[in-house]
Amino acid sequence: MARRDPKTSTTDLDLLRELCAAPSPTGFEGPVQTVVRRRLSATAETAGDPLGNVWADVVPDGAPHVLVTGHADQIGLIVTYVDDRGYVSFDAVGGVDRQLLPGRHLVIHGPKGPIDGVVGRKPTHVIPKDERGKAPELHEQWIDIGAGSRDEALGLVAIGDPITFQADFLALAGGRYASPAFDDRAGVYVALRALEHYAATPAAARLTALSTVHEETTFMGAKAAALRFRPDVAMVIDADFASDDPGVDPKKLGGEVKLGGGPIIHRGAASNRRLVELALEVAAAERIPHQVKAVPGATQTDAEELMASVQTATLSFSLPVRYMHSALEVMDPEDAEAGALLAAALTRRLAQDWTPERFVPGG
Ligand SMILES: [Zn+2]
Repeated sequence: MARRDPKTSTTDLDLLRELCAAPSPTGFEGPVQTVVRRRLSATAETAGDPLGNVWADVVPDGAPHVLVTGHADQIGLIVTYVDDRGYVSFDAVGGVDRQLLPGRHLVIHGPKGPIDGVVGRKPTHVIPKDERGKAPELHEQWIDIGAGSRDEALGLVAIGDPITFQADFLALAGGRYASPAFDDRAGVYVALRALEHYAATPAAARLTALSTVHEETTFMGAKAAALRFRPDVAMVIDADFASDDPGVDPKKLGGEVKLGGGPIIHRGAASNRRLVELALEVAAAERIPHQVKAVPGATQTDAEELMASVQTATLSFSLPVRYMHSALEVMDPEDAEAGALLAAALTRRLAQDWTPERFVPGG
């Protein structure tokens, strides 16, 4: 895919930046869902559930019913304990690599506002030789917020407060960006932009854009959405491991996928076979850049939950991201915009000659 051309690109970088700036680890998705609601309400009526899912429909009476989803939550940490001297202990929310934490700037989202802190680490000089290069267990690490006592610390942070990496959004060379939240704000971006593209030239299908919660821990948002919507077709968009950095071997990572190559269509158990064929056909016809990756088993995304909603043909497609679940993930926003264009075009295509049997093997 060509590098971003500001004259022709339809990528809404401000939207992606705004989504990434809203700190929202699992269970605390309020900030990002506020951004999602505000954005969706410009196109359609929004709705939500007590779990925290947020969605909006275009052509609400239409058929088939197509759902496009990304997950709002990100990995993070949570305050578990504050000691007599004001040091803060924490546990992980989702898949956090403890080796990435020592020395890091973290933000605790306290009752009165964000509190900056640093993950403490013994100077290398005083670490015994056999312990050097190894990260302490999570319970052996601590956040130093500068407080001098438990009371002072508890005036700023509370047990159960969420913690995130600092919400940077860095412009790198070549139109690439770095943020700790691309998994999966990039997928939420796809859902929101797909609804906007579809609303601009709607067809007979009902399209619901959904921003789910709790993906990084229990997939509970998708489970609730599967029960609620039972859509005819679901497109589940998540971040996927890019294979184009020096630390990665495409043969070990399940295939070759590159930043700037467009959305990654999953072939295998993650996706309905005929839906994959249709997605490839639409992407080719619309000249939307795309990549294909083999998925031999579970996607470890919301896709499996939506598949279980009895009557749903599911397409798992994803966006290439380097350094997943780190303090700075790297991606090309053009891939997300291409994903949105693909989701909207596929929805229009699904509206032509719709029959549910189309995606039933042998049907
Ligand atoms: Zn994800």
